[in-house]
Amino acid sequence: MEITKPHAAMFASPGMGHVIPAIELGKRLAGSHGFYVTIFVLEADAASAQSQFLNSPGSDKTLVDVIGLPSPDISGLVDPSANFGTKIMAMMRETVPTLRSKIAEMQHKPTALIVDFLGLEALRLGGEFNMLTYLFIASNARFVALMVYFPTLDKDDEEEHIIKKQPLAIPGCEPVRFEDTFEIFLDPSSRMYQESVPLGLVYPTFNGIIVNTWGDMEPKTLKSLQDPNLLGRIARAPIYPIGPLCRPVDPSKTNHPVLNWLNKQPDESVLYISFGSGGSLAAKQLTELAWGLELSQQRFVWVVRPPVDGSACSEYISVNSGEIRDGTPDYLPKEFVNRTQERGLVVPSWAPQAEILAHQAVGGFLTHCGWNSILESVVSGVPMIAWPLFADQMTNATLLNEELGIAVRSKKLPSEGVILRVEIEALMRSIMVEEEGYEMRKKVKKLRDTAEKSLSCDGGSLWRVAEECQRLLEPVIKVTARDA
Ligand code: UDP
Repeated sequence: MEITKPHAAMFASPGMGHVIPAIELGKRLAGSHGFYVTIFVLEADAASAQSQFLNSPGSDKTLVDVIGLPSPDISGLVDPSANFGTKIMAMMRETVPTLRSKIAEMQHKPTALIVDFLGLEALRLGGEFNMLTYLFIASNARFVALMVYFPTLDKDDEEEHIIKKQPLAIPGCEPVRFEDTFEIFLDPSSRMYQESVPLGLVYPTFNGIIVNTWGDMEPKTLKSLQDPNLLGRIARAPIYPIGPLCRPVDPSKTNHPVLNWLNKQPDESVLYISFGSGGSLAAKQLTELAWGLELSQQRFVWVVRPPVDGSACSEYISVNSGEIRDGTPDYLPKEFVNRTQERGLVVPSWAPQAEILAHQAVGGFLTHCGWNSILESVVSGVPMIAWPLFADQMTNATLLNEELGIAVRSKKLPSEGVILRVEIEALMRSIMVEEEGYEMRKKVKKLRDTAEKSLSCDGGSLWRVAEECQRLLEPVIKVTARDA
């Protein structure tokens, strides 16, 4: 490694929703900004992260290194029934000593440490090794706004929102409805609340907050976060909107049965349905979705998972085995696959989503509103049916539906009760064949164009990070030159 080049160490949280954007950020820092980059991931993700990196266009193996760190045993630290986020945060926290040793061993010490927001405690290594510290938010500006603002509320304001269920007014931003608020804010006596809510208070101590979004996607919230008279007064750290970071894809070069099938379908005629890397539906909801899809008469690709017992998160136990009978998994209505095979594909568990969304045959996406899924849909110009399940997905759905007008959604939230087949059929038809969907498609394509523009100049943001790192490096370069 040349001493004159900045070196960024990145620490990504588990799960492809965090690893993929971290890799794309690393590639960008190396490719456009002359960094060496070392991306640390937990071992469970190492193989997929490495293949993700190696197979991704524009990856330079000489500049970027992906390293797996042993996954710590957290069984004695966290209750097995604890929330998924609590478990991830504990794993990241327990990995900090290993990360410290890895950094200590490095000959060319990192100039900057960039850490996923679930591993925020690693940022204390910044002081130990004289590194600049950046928080990487693989979610959006609205997430940052809520995280920095909520811990500054006084008891009365907090009560208004979480007990009296009033909307939360955030300076310069759209208010957040009670139904949309993150689960972590709801119970001040819970461990999740106590561990997560105060984290927003330390955001201002970092050199910057890198967010996977861009100006046209979240104009109001970004403006407020950057305005010292609005949320900027609380955030007090530079906000770098560098998105949308998505895995670049070329469906025409991907050989996969789903893509081969899509090749035979008319343009913008297929609805893609997926609930992310972990989301699942309850049995009754799954049945209604299947019937709604059948009634809508639309072409589709549906990534299905066995139902869960009442909650949306993959952590919960499946109530059906997922056995196949007459070509149909036993958790779908009998003969569903036979009746719909002329116009649809049921794909168990996992599909190449980014490639599917980028295919010209896809005209709509029923999504759980994970941020990566949203970005992949927007960069492909595909309007959405928002079906949020948990975490930041509710605020994301509201952004898509109310602020951007690029998604339709059900009258009540999926968490408030089963959405019935008639409403599902209407949502599907509205996005695929009605005027409303046509208008949304136009809007999302305009937004896609702004995404392309933002990427071509990084919103100016990564240049500023690179400049800061270069400045920190100057004294080291001078000393090295003098001693040489
Ligand atoms: N994904 C995929 N195939 C699937 C399901 C998900 O490739 O069948 C990818 C998807 O393209 C996205 C990521 O997994 O990049 C999911 O991230 P997101 O933030 O949307 O949701 P999460 O899984 O974190 O809830």
